Amino acid sequence: MFEEISQGSSMPIKCRRCKAENAEVYLSHLNLNLCPECFMLLTERRVKHTIDAYKMLAKNDRVGIAVSGGKDSSTLAYILNSLFDKIDMVLIYIDLGVPDYSKHCLERVEALAEMLDKELIVYSLEGEMGFKIGDFKQTVYGRKICSACGTIKRYLLNKIAYDLGLTKIATGHNLDDTLEALFNFYLEGNVEAMLRLKPYLPRTHPKFVPKIKPLIGLTDFECLLYAGYRKLPTRTVECQFSRGSRMQRRKELLNMIAEKIPNFKHSFINSHFKRILPNLEASLGSREIKIYECPTCGMPTSLEGMPCHFCKLTKTLRPQLTQRSL
Ligand code: AMP
Ligand code: ZN
Repeated sequence: MFEEISQGSSMPIKCRRCKAENAEVYLSHLNLNLCPECFMLLTERRVKHTIDAYKMLAKNDRVGIAVSGGKDSSTLAYILNSLFDKIDMVLIYIDLGVPDYSKHCLERVEALAEMLDKELIVYSLEGEMGFKIGDFKQTVYGRKICSACGTIKRYLLNKIAYDLGLTKIATGHNLDDTLEALFNFYLEGNVEAMLRLKPYLPRTHPKFVPKIKPLIGLTDFECLLYAGYRKLPTRTVECQFSRGSRMQRRKELLNMIAEKIPNFKHSFINSHFKRILPNLEASLGSREIKIYECPTCGMPTSLEGMPCHFCKLTKTLRPQLTQRSL
């Protein structure tokens, strides 16, 4: 991915926008050389454009920004905070109890909250629910721990935001994350999941807090550069469970395609959201996704008459859990 940084030539390269001779950044999909200042400005403008295009935010919103300590959510929090200083925002961090990693990330989000002068809400999985993400290793989800973790995070973010009366949850999912997920859904032919993956998920149930993904137009590389130039506190270690995961391997594969076809990622995403998805929605309109309430926890779920994915997952840990936490 670092091929996009300008290749150590001795000749100074001019920024296409301001003409300064310090164009350190090369964005291959746009064939564009930029200086750091112009890169940051254009990145912020692109995020603003995404937010406006999908009408993601309104003046009276109360936004929970889901921060993980990673480059994407730190970039998200910084940009939202600087673009929308009148909108009420809090940072939310879920401590998943991953040895060393979770503590390291917590320190980074605490530093970020201080830098942005924003309130940080920390939810400890172990403290509140009595288990850690690693406890799934002993269950049938042991080999799919990243997907179990995704379910836990989605559920808890929604629940925390709902309990706090927030009106939106913003996550740092970027273009590469979205492309990787879509690519997988295409391989599986998982149309239902494709219909649910959107830059803006509106309220479909009174207890479902709308989700927004303002960074959906930015690549991993752009988020990494932005966080670096702004000196945002970000984690420097990787989660022990995600190392070498299928998700990472699919991302590597997609990066290899983008090396040969520089606008591959953007074309794929644009075709999907502008052409494929509207057609899918039009032809499957009658199969609208119904939302039910989980008989165990009362939170919204797409599963009719049975426990939601979160309750199903936590049930596998039942012997290890205290009565209080279930
Ligand atoms: P991931 O699921 O790790 O790819 O992260 C996607 C997005 O989910 C991040 O950009 C954050 O917005 C959010 N997120 C991930 N992990 C956490 C966490 N531990 N606490 C709060 N939000 C998180
Ligand atoms: Zn439930």
